[in-house]
Amino acid sequence: MTAEIIAVGTELLLGDILNTNAQFLSRQLAQLGISVHFQSVVGDNPTRLESVVRLAMQRSDILVFSGGLGPTDDDVTKQTVAHAFEDELRLDEEELAHIRAFFTAWGRTMPKNNEKQAYVPVRGHKLHNENGTAPGMLFETKQGGKWAVLLPGPPAELQPMFLQEVKPWLASLTDCALHSLTLRVAGIGESHLETKVAHLLTGENPTAALYAKTGEVFIRITAKAGSAAQAETLCRAFAARFYDVLGDAIYGEDEETLAAALVHALQKTGKTAATAESCTGGLVSAAITDVPGSSEVFGFGTCTYSNEQKMRVLGVSSETLQRYGAVSAETAAEMAQGVRKAAGADLGLGVTGIAGPGGGTKEKPVGLVFLAVACENKVYVQKLLIENRTRDTVRRFSAKYALEMLRRLALSLPQPGCQAFEAGAPAHISDGQGPRDA
Ligand code: ATP
Ligand code: MG
Repeated sequence: MTAEIIAVGTELLLGDILNTNAQFLSRQLAQLGISVHFQSVVGDNPTRLESVVRLAMQRSDILVFSGGLGPTDDDVTKQTVAHAFEDELRLDEEELAHIRAFFTAWGRTMPKNNEKQAYVPVRGHKLHNENGTAPGMLFETKQGGKWAVLLPGPPAELQPMFLQEVKPWLASLTDCALHSLTLRVAGIGESHLETKVAHLLTGENPTAALYAKTGEVFIRITAKAGSAAQAETLCRAFAARFYDVLGDAIYGEDEETLAAALVHALQKTGKTAATAESCTGGLVSAAITDVPGSSEVFGFGTCTYSNEQKMRVLGVSSETLQRYGAVSAETAAEMAQGVRKAAGADLGLGVTGIAGPGGGTKEKPVGLVFLAVACENKVYVQKLLIENRTRDTVRRFSAKYALEMLRRLALSLPQPGCQAFEAGAPAHISDGQGPRDA
């Protein structure tokens, strides 16, 4: 069963509004296992709309329309679709009463125009609109097998109408369901990840695709089957193959954020963490404190932006700052150990870097970031070079890598891409230690 979405409205073509109805409908149809092959947007013009409808009727089973059901002359969807589907419209007294009541409830009388909305298909069905005046419509071709679903444009009307009236009917039409599962991976760049799992990205059912996000990558697995439960089983079995390759680089699934995975790791292992941020300006602590229950494991985060505060609050030595600079492996390591001590926490994090756009030099370019995590006897330092990115991206990217290092330390996992030092020893990072595929 295939569907296509036709959004009607000149406002959409002009870019005045975003076609969020198409996104909502596409997601809903995917959940039902109905393949959406086309989406179109057409203005409030009967001739052009009719040509889109005729084309869509040739190539799709279900046409889902949004918009153009209102009372004004430019609302042409209903008449145009009725014509193409060889149906007629008749005045529905019940709808007319509903529309009148809607106006009365607002203390107004119904303008004559709105009578137009009370016209419903003779052969087709109307769909009740609880949140507005325009009813939705369902048309079927004379010979059967093709449907048009007409929904009002305002999302607050379209969404409940779809969920309550259309979705159950569509579910009864189809005999297959989709299930999706998202695996979330941190600490590995997209291209590196792609080479590792390339052999798993070519299947037809389940399918898997990579979505690069800032500082992490999502793997979305989708399976089609006779029932939702079967589709879920297929997804789960396929996910196991990704776990075989990627192991603990998969930090979470579906909606679990990296910060949530970190908080859960700390809760599980009974450890606490503290953060000392410079270039990320508090992004790491903001992400951690976004997670409900984080107060159990996180009590202290600083934004130590100046050298003076790095010395005063974290105990970074003035010699380290003078000799290696604020953006250095040595400073990051001292920040991580210093904040750990200041907070009395089990784990400490230090982040220092050059977010840009200014402030870069040949030796220390924009995008150079040092991350360090410390536990009682060890410090792990990672050097990132996040090139050709905006200030915002450098900061968000660094925050993600920092969260991942803390998560790995909480779980006592190896720290890929990092150099390890004994606590208190100078953290001289050897040259050529570059970022992993940032
Ligand atoms: P109305 O009775 O309000 O005229 P309608 O069914 O005729 O409803 P439109 O006139 O096409 O719908 O759109 C009304 C409003 O609904 C738009 O101004 C916009 O705010 C919203 N809307 C319309 N189409 C979309 C869309 N595709 N995505 C998101 N919002 C939309
Ligand atoms: Mg309208």
